[in-house]
This record gives sequence, structure tokens and C-alpha cells, in this order.
Amino acid sequence: MNIIDLRSDTVTQPTQAMRDAMATAVVGDDVFDDDPTLHELEDYAAKLLGKEAAVFVTSGMQGNACALLAHTRRGDCVVIDPHSHIADHEAGSYAQLAGVSLRFPNSVNGTMDPASVRACLTDDRDPQIAPATLVVLENAHSTGAVVSVASMEAVYQVAHAAGAGVHLDGARLFNAAAALGVTDVRELTQYCDTVMCCLSKGLCAPVGSILAGPKALIWRARRARRILGGGMRQAGILAAAGLIALRDMTARLPDDHANAAYLGDLLDQIDGITVARDRLAIDMVFFDADWAADKAARYPDWMRAHGVKVTGCMNGEYRMVCHHDIARADCDTVAALLRTFAAEG
Ligand SMILES: *Cc1c(COP(=O)(O)O)cnc(C)c1O
Repeated sequence: MNIIDLRSDTVTQPTQAMRDAMATAVVGDDVFDDDPTLHELEDYAAKLLGKEAAVFVTSGMQGNACALLAHTRRGDCVVIDPHSHIADHEAGSYAQLAGVSLRFPNSVNGTMDPASVRACLTDDRDPQIAPATLVVLENAHSTGAVVSVASMEAVYQVAHAAGAGVHLDGARLFNAAAALGVTDVRELTQYCDTVMCCLSKGLCAPVGSILAGPKALIWRARRARRILGGGMRQAGILAAAGLIALRDMTARLPDDHANAAYLGDLLDQIDGITVARDRLAIDMVFFDADWAADKAARYPDWMRAHGVKVTGCMNGEYRMVCHHDIARADCDTVAALLRTFAAEG
């Protein structure tokens, strides 16, 4: 049976073109700065993202950790959305690796109130208060929403006026750009100093992310990557797939968004299910269900028995993610199944 896997866009298989490119990639030892395919990826990514330099990292988490280590010193404070990936889903690495604390401005689905960000940006004069040296934006946001260009600009201006840097967690940066109708992603990345984007989610590369920014910060990030065990050898094998991700896979993301919107419409019509339409901007559908605890607990196994992989209830809601390996017809199949499950009591 063909399995429909809606757990995340991270489950995407590398395309045949990626597998072919990986098999024939010219490689060297990147720790000796000797891998031509990796150089090609880093140069391409830096240009695409409008930054001086870029470094290939093993994962989005490693990219974010390198960014924190590059921007901050131990004891600094980072201003960030409380429901961001770094705050919520990176096992507290900001504290354990970078030794920084977090401060939360008023924020709704990743859109931060600039005045509140300003109030969080304390300087180094009061010994009672950790100095805030970095603001982190996340776009697209983990809740499925996107942050407008104007909002990014406002936060960036406030941060820079206070002497703080800005890092953009753009794990799904190209999804955000597509959802905002932005054709050149530099319209977004002009409002950050460093940006991380994942090659391994909707873009289908098997492994890896990019961290881009000014030369001096990327140099510090390179040392941080080394400390984190991210100095790779024939990494050009991975870079070959990453190049295809950036060159060929961003243009099709609107298909995933259209499928998610379509799936969201179908699910919203099912009794007892309410789709979070205000957060249906990219490839993710979030919904509430009025199911009792035992029914909620049976849901993932029931779906799995019918050929669909889903995650269970997380923070009181459910999520399905569309991606390269999900077709429009799969959305119909899944909605029909969920209708049956919801009705079965
Ligand atoms: C997935 C994700 C990450 C981490 O990426 P990994 O490659 O899974 O480590 C970071 N930030 C956001 C917003 C993400 O969605």
C-alpha cells in the first residue's frame, strides 16, 4: 500500500535528480576547505540570500546554534517569540550551548510588537539585567503563520537602533516568501543580519541547512560549527542535493500550499473539527477536534492502519503537512478517512 505521510515536510524523499547528482558529485575534504561542490553551494546560497557568506550546516538546529554562538556572548539575552522553534523545540540548546537567556516580547504567531521588542532591548548599563544583543525572527512561523515584510522591517529597525543584531530562523523561508508573494527572497532577508534556511524540509534535500550573513559573523559561525562537531569531510555529496533544492525546488512550494489550503477546506467541513484558518499560510494545516481522550489516543494508530501516517495531539491541536510526496488526490483520501474516523465515535 502506498503510505501517505503527513507528519512533516521533513519526510520528503530526495528526488531522483538529487540522487543522481549526489552519485556523481565532485568532492574534497571540507575541513581542508577543499570541496568544490560545497563551495558552489555556499556561494550560490550567499548570493540567493543576499549575504556576503554562507556556511553549510548539518541541520536547522545546528544553524540556529551557530548563529547564537556567533552573535552573542555567554550571559547575553536574546529577544524572541515564546513559541519559536528555538524557544520551544531545541531542547534548551540556547542555554546549554550559547549560555544565553531569552526574553519574550508581545507576539502573535511570530509577529512581534516592535514597541514591545524595543522595551526588551536592555543595554549593558544595569548590572541587574542581562544585556539583549540579539533579536530572533522566525518566518514562516512554527504555528503555520507568516510574518509580513513590513513587520520584519519594523523589528529590524528597532533592533538595529538599539545596537542588537537580528537572526532570522527561516527553516521554511522559501515557504514564507511564496506565501507572501515575494519572488526575490532578499526582500525578506534584507531585514536580518544572519539567516538560516533548511534544505531538508519542503525542498527535499536529504540532509542540511544553510546559515548566511556577513563574513565576520559567518567566520564565527564556522568555528561554532566545528565545536559542535559539524566539520564534515566529503560534504559535497550533500551539497549536490542542496544545490538542486535551492535551484529547482523552491518554485513548486505554492503547490504544497494549495494542497494544504484544499485539505484544510475539506477537514473544516467535518463535524467536530475546526481548522485554524488564520494560520493556514504555508504547507501546514492545524486543527482542533472535539474528541474524547481515548479517541484522540487512537487517532494515529487508526490512520496508520488505513495507510496514513500522522502525528498525535500536540499542545491541544493536530497538524498535517503537505509536501512534494503528497498529491491532491491524497488530500481527498485523507479527508474521507478522517470523516469516517470522526463519525465512528
Ligand atoms: C525544523 C525547524 C528547525 C530545525 O531544523 P532541523 O533541521 O530539524 O534541525 C528550526 N526552526 C524552525 C522554525 C523549524 O521549523
